[in-house]
Amino acid sequence: MLKNKTYNRKKIVTIFFVCFVIFLVLGGRLVYLMVFQSDYYTEKAKELHERERSIKAARGRILDANGTVIADNKTVCTISVIHNQIKEPDKIVQVLSKELDLSEEYVQKRVEKYSSIEKIKSNVDKEKGDAIRAYNLEGVKVDEDYKRYYPYDSLASKVLGFTGGDNQGIIGLEVKYEEYLRGKDGMILTMTDARGVELDAAGEERIEPVPGNDLYISLDMNIQSYATQLAKQVMETKEAERVSILVMNPQNGEIMAMADVPEFNLNDPYTLPETAAGEGLTEEKKQELLNAMWRNGCISDTYEPGSTFKIVTAAAGLEGGVVTTEDQFSCPGYIMVEDRRIRCHKTTGHGAENFVQATMNSCKPVFMEFI
Ligand SMILES: [Zn+2]
Repeated sequence: MLKNKTYNRKKIVTIFFVCFVIFLVLGGRLVYLMVFQSDYYTEKAKELHERERSIKAARGRILDANGTVIADNKTVCTISVIHNQIKEPDKIVQVLSKELDLSEEYVQKRVEKYSSIEKIKSNVDKEKGDAIRAYNLEGVKVDEDYKRYYPYDSLASKVLGFTGGDNQGIIGLEVKYEEYLRGKDGMILTMTDARGVELDAAGEERIEPVPGNDLYISLDMNIQSYATQLAKQVMETKEAERVSILVMNPQNGEIMAMADVPEFNLNDPYTLPETAAGEGLTEEKKQELLNAMWRNGCISDTYEPGSTFKIVTAAAGLEGGVVTTEDQFSCPGYIMVEDRRIRCHKTTGHGAENFVQATMNSCKPVFMEFI
């Protein structure tokens, strides 16, 4: 009997001790999670409960010398789903895949994904967005946002450049003046409970977006249009691969037109011309062709001045009184400079000509003679 009692007490002490150790371990773990890992879990919970939706800032416009808008914004929509608020997942999959032209599997995967908010498609036309909003589906959010729009399609494409998926500048002025054009996105913060239902008491915190600055440039779209037409004509008659025309204001160096044909459509910058587009193109090759298509030869390529430099020689000659417009010259088709015989482009010679005619003929011997 006595032995049995001792045995029981021993058993109780052992059990108590085991329990004590277990609680000690659990307590320790709790302290670890609540005190030392608190930041990590607060952040996790916040991510799940606080739903952030950004309000896109309107990007600054680009205007030409006459104040004509040449890069503008158009309202587009971003369609997202909120997993916890979805009541009719099958209907949502069906409606969104039909309206947005997406495969049902693609939409289904996103509808079923457990996340606080899941983007289905961005850059959706406003009419489409309004149509989806009209279905009144719970858990489907339609947010309005801006997309870059170029009213002149391909005119001055290489100068203006275009923007990417996040409205950031990719090439041209769009990237050069990114910091001024960009603006600052705003934000809507909504608190929700664990099930994703929005809490009324917590309210909405709204940070207003700051629109970007407009950019005024010296380019004149009328002159640009003429220059482009002319360049296209020359490209055709000379069967050239590329033709560039640069028009500058001689008084202050302002660029009035910068055409570099073939240009590309700014509203569809990732489509290669039919001649280059092929089925079996690798990603790398395609990127290479796109870069070549976007390249602004007026800025990115070097050019041997050649005859265009005659303008500088003529201006210096006239200003220095070395030559007058009436001075008479004679071109035999070549000129000897030291021991070199340099030919005129017209090998039979231009004959007698005054300085104005020599300039019109782009006559080499005359320009070498009067220096
Ligand atoms: Zn000549």
